[in-house]
Amino acid sequence: MTSTTSTRGLERLTYAQRLIPGGVNSATRNVGGPHGFVSAAGATLVDYDGKEYIDYHAAFGANLLGYGDELVAEAVADAVRTQSLTGLGTSEMEIAVAELTCELIPSVERSVVTMSGTEATFLAVRLARGLTGRDLVVKFQGCFHGWHDAVARNVISPPELAYGMDPMSAGILPAALEATLIAEFNDLASVQALFEQHPGRIAAVILEPVPHNVGALLPTDVFLSGLRSLTADEGAVLVFDEVISGFRHAPGGWQEVSGVMPDLTTYGKAMGNGMPIAGLGGRAELMDGFNAAGGDVLLAGTFNGNPTSCAAAIATMTYLRDHPDFYQRTHRLGERMRSGLREIVGELGIKAHVTGYGGVFVCYFLGGQVRGYRDLMRNDDAAYVQFHRRMTEAGNLMLPLSLKRNHISGAHTEQHIDDTLQAARTVLAGMRAEGICR
Ligand code: PLP
Repeated sequence: MTSTTSTRGLERLTYAQRLIPGGVNSATRNVGGPHGFVSAAGATLVDYDGKEYIDYHAAFGANLLGYGDELVAEAVADAVRTQSLTGLGTSEMEIAVAELTCELIPSVERSVVTMSGTEATFLAVRLARGLTGRDLVVKFQGCFHGWHDAVARNVISPPELAYGMDPMSAGILPAALEATLIAEFNDLASVQALFEQHPGRIAAVILEPVPHNVGALLPTDVFLSGLRSLTADEGAVLVFDEVISGFRHAPGGWQEVSGVMPDLTTYGKAMGNGMPIAGLGGRAELMDGFNAAGGDVLLAGTFNGNPTSCAAAIATMTYLRDHPDFYQRTHRLGERMRSGLREIVGELGIKAHVTGYGGVFVCYFLGGQVRGYRDLMRNDDAAYVQFHRRMTEAGNLMLPLSLKRNHISGAHTEQHIDDTLQAARTVLAGMRAEGICR
């Protein structure tokens, strides 16, 4: 099967390449067709050539209620007409965002908003260093926390670089890379060992409580609660990066699901249903380390708390708070997809592990248990990419990169799920027949 060719899309991308490096504003957007979309509504996208897709990409997780959600659109339009960015003091909208964030996310007593998840995790790391006076940060192999120097390493690493030095970019100072230590997810002993090797030097442990940047690794209770007590005993700051899990799995993110409370939490993506807003929150005594509250950690940003982003966040969070049925529905659809996929791979005798949580689903091509990144190195990347590529060609948009997750939004219906399962059956049977998966 050939890869998706979108004639008009390819034409526009090629033209864009004369103006934008690689033709895209974020590198993982250029992974073969479709090369862009002309419209998005509900759960569907239409590409440059008029082909329609059921969308599971969700703009990397930013779309949660559905594309063009009326409540969010109205709130943003109203803010554009009636509010301006003024740049002094605070606005009623900024207060409302903070109120909702503190109400929804259990461990958050004070909150600041930024424009991106990268800024939020940057602030979390800097605040932790500022508060503790320590230099090192622990992250986990497979977790992604944005593109800044402290965290841009060891996400999807090849086996020879996993757990070693695997920067995502040139241009990062060696000192910044070396100040970040790598542990194994769901393996508390690997974190304990780092604390033993670097006594009194670890400022923060940062993790995606469900590492969705490698699909969906589900944390054990022992691991999360163990991290909680270990970091508390060691005087280090525990940071849950809920930029993907936040608002998506529950209004209060994974900490609400697990009952384990971090010191600091970062959130973003779905918070504004596609409008740019993210943030950082936590216990008051920690958040008051920012210079705005008399501490010595810099807090700045022209667009932080701007009216249109705030309007989107207020509309999204209010909807999620007032509609517990949203979660019942998306979780039910997620379960329908996961059990349907399990049935198909079982019937076809394909070695696969279908997992996820709530509206997120993943089909790894591997056998046995999946606990940490080490297990994901058994994934058949070629089969994974082929599955996503062929599903996309069949009109079900899934990011054709290895270990990428899929998202169900509030606009998906049972019919969408069943149509996708039918396509999956055909695609997987074809891959099996061609010997692409075993
Ligand atoms: N944290 C996590 C868990 C993410 O998945 C991402 C982005 O994918 C980020 C942080 C960075 O967010 P942004 O792309 O908004 O800077």
